[in-house]
Amino acid sequence: GAGIVLVGAGLAGVRTAEQLRRAGHSGPITMLGAEVHPPYDRPPLSKEVLRGDRTAADVVLQDTAFFADNQVELRTGVRAIGVDTEKRLVSLENGPAVPYEELVIATGLVPRQLPAAAGLAGLHVLRTVDHSLRIRESVGSGPALIVGAGFIGCEVAASLRALSVPVTIVDPLPAPLAGAVGETIGRLVARLHVEAGVDLRCGVGVAEILDDGAGRVSGVKLSDGTEIAAHLIVSGIGSRPAVEWLAGSAIEVANGITCDERGRTSADGVWALGDVAAWFRPALGKHVRVEHWTNAGEQASVVASDIVGGDQPTRPPVVPYFWSDQYGLKIQALGDIDPSEEVRVLTDDGRRFLAVYVNDGRITGAVGCGRAGQLMKLRPLIARQAALSEIPQ
Ligand code: FAD
Repeated sequence: GAGIVLVGAGLAGVRTAEQLRRAGHSGPITMLGAEVHPPYDRPPLSKEVLRGDRTAADVVLQDTAFFADNQVELRTGVRAIGVDTEKRLVSLENGPAVPYEELVIATGLVPRQLPAAAGLAGLHVLRTVDHSLRIRESVGSGPALIVGAGFIGCEVAASLRALSVPVTIVDPLPAPLAGAVGETIGRLVARLHVEAGVDLRCGVGVAEILDDGAGRVSGVKLSDGTEIAAHLIVSGIGSRPAVEWLAGSAIEVANGITCDERGRTSADGVWALGDVAAWFRPALGKHVRVEHWTNAGEQASVVASDIVGGDQPTRPPVVPYFWSDQYGLKIQALGDIDPSEEVRVLTDDGRRFLAVYVNDGRITGAVGCGRAGQLMKLRPLIARQAALSEIPQ
């Protein structure tokens, strides 16, 4: 038969292939990836790869032997441009359409670009290994400016500071990571950047990208009129789900691909997972799209067992988890972080801290910085939304 086709050869695609074989699926599996590279891991791109501590080859997710041994046909440099869910065909940019029995979509995200600046040299986004290597090549050319103090912007700033590059960060929000973890935690993280010599400018936006008249960025003009010189500009202003290729298909898209709690899309025989997919979360009563590494692996095991059939493995409720590495410290979060919730800081030494999110006296999540041991002890409390008073003193 036509077997299972995976579109998107990233983390979620690879984990799905692994889990399908582990679950005993023996039929054909084909993996289509738009990038020319074999599947690789993205977290190191803003960290070790950018700093030059690991190479592109160091971050591949599975070597060629995995694909051969597991009879997974990996087709790189192959972009899907459409799906016919009636005929069960994936159409490609180059080459004949690929038939499927089951289709799994894991196409990830596309970074948003700063407006009106396309084509200028020295202007970067960071999603792929090629992006990371290109930013690395620009190191040494002069000062860097980071637009957006989200996870990617903060990590790029930290990596560039480790390379002694002068760095300015600009973000309209009042603190770094405020959109993800809220302003209270953001202000604790801000100290790390300032301590490392970053010129951190929050509460102000970029009004204009300046160029040298010869096609290269020279800096930015901020919304308050200030001009900042920069030879390297990295924008980390968020991403959108890679779903354009599904336009006109029967697969429902809202905030990413709309899925039930097992990753099934609105079309029969089609699943989606990873950064591109918004799964229904019964506990929250809504669809949630998660752009973090651990989620992709967790969803892959659910999708694989749903495809293979049989009993769903019974597992304890998963407490969502993500991390970020900045200035030699690990920032980690547990739970469904709602940045608008009340935050209680439990410990803070000026650099390392531990804080919990509280809703109606119950612990819904936690963020730690350099406090892995203490943070992980909170996991069972977060899993059952224990009362704040239950935290051991
Ligand atoms: P991706 O890894 O993006 O893979 C999707 C793949 O699909 C891509 O290779 C893409 O080229 C391909 N594709 C897209 N469209 C098509 C098409 N039409 N046809 C064929 N192929 C297509 N998470 C954390 O929890 N902690 C971290 O510290 C962390 N750091 C990160 C640092 C960076 C720089 C980045 C970019 C991400 C980071 N993440 C981190 C997030 C994590 O990497 C993602 O959650 C994870 O990669 C999601 O996997 P995915 O397979 O859903 O998407």
